[in-house]
Parts: sequence; structure tokens; C-alpha cells
Amino acid sequence: MQIAERTVVSFHYTLTNDAGDVLDSSDGREPLAYLHGAGNIVPGLEREMSGHVAGDKFIVDVAAADGYGDYIEELVQTVPRESFQGVDDLAVGMQFQAQTGQGPIAVIITEIDEDEVTVDGNHPLAGETLHFAVEIIEVREASAEEVTHGHVHGAGGHHH
Ligand code: ZN
Repeated sequence: MQIAERTVVSFHYTLTNDAGDVLDSSDGREPLAYLHGAGNIVPGLEREMSGHVAGDKFIVDVAAADGYGDYIEELVQTVPRESFQGVDDLAVGMQFQAQTGQGPIAVIITEIDEDEVTVDGNHPLAGETLHFAVEIIEVREASAEEVTHGHVHGAGGHHH
């Protein structure tokens, strides 16, 4: 069966950046399962999966804009340290939800000064060109319920 709309795809992957650093991998885990055509994976990868079948191995290069987005300077902001009152052990790397005009976004603390804290709302992989080494393990038809929910049920997916 070929990967198309309304199929569920299980695949192994290794994700590297331009420098060749491994950013993520399904190595040693269950393959990742996703519902094709539902935006469960980054757009640049999903597009290249179409038409492949179980057993296929290939490399997909994804530009930042088709991956986790371009790096946006405006998403880096400095806020007064007192906005974090009540937070113990404020540290670089901590994640928070920030309320914005576009709704809540996840931000990460990148710098802490005496009276100011710098937060970054970019995805940790924003601005990175992504290189996926992919191996398709299984392609099956999605159930009507999976299509309605927009995600995979069972192995590698949602259990509810
Ligand atoms: Zn569901």
C-alpha cells in the first residue's frame, strides 16, 4: 500500500542538522506512527512521504520554513525578573507558557540577569535545516475514527 491521504504510516527516522549532529531518532524505540495528510509531522517531511511503501529507505532534506519555522527575532523578549515572582530556582532552559495576542506559546529562558530575564518563543529547532533518514516500516488504511480524530490510535499513537 502506498502512502496517501487517510493512511497510517509507521517509520523509523534519524534527524540530523547541517552539522551532522543527531537531534532526534527513533533508534531503540517503537517506530513513530502518524496519520498522513493530517499535519501530524512537519510539512516538508509529510510531503516527501507520499507514494512510498513499506521497506523504502530515503533521505528527506527540509528547509527551516517547511520544518519548525524560520527563526524569528521578535519572539525573543526581555521581561522584568519580577514577572517570575513565586518561581523557585529560575534557570536557563526552563519552559513557560506565555500569553500573546496570538494565544499561548511555549517560551524557554535563555538568559537571566540581575533584574531581567530573556525568553525565546522560537521552537528549539527553528531556523534549522532538517535532514531525516527515513525507513518506512508499515503503511495501513486509517480507520474512520482515526480520520475523524486527526491522529493515530493504538501502537505508536493515542490510547483513549
Ligand atoms: Zn483519538
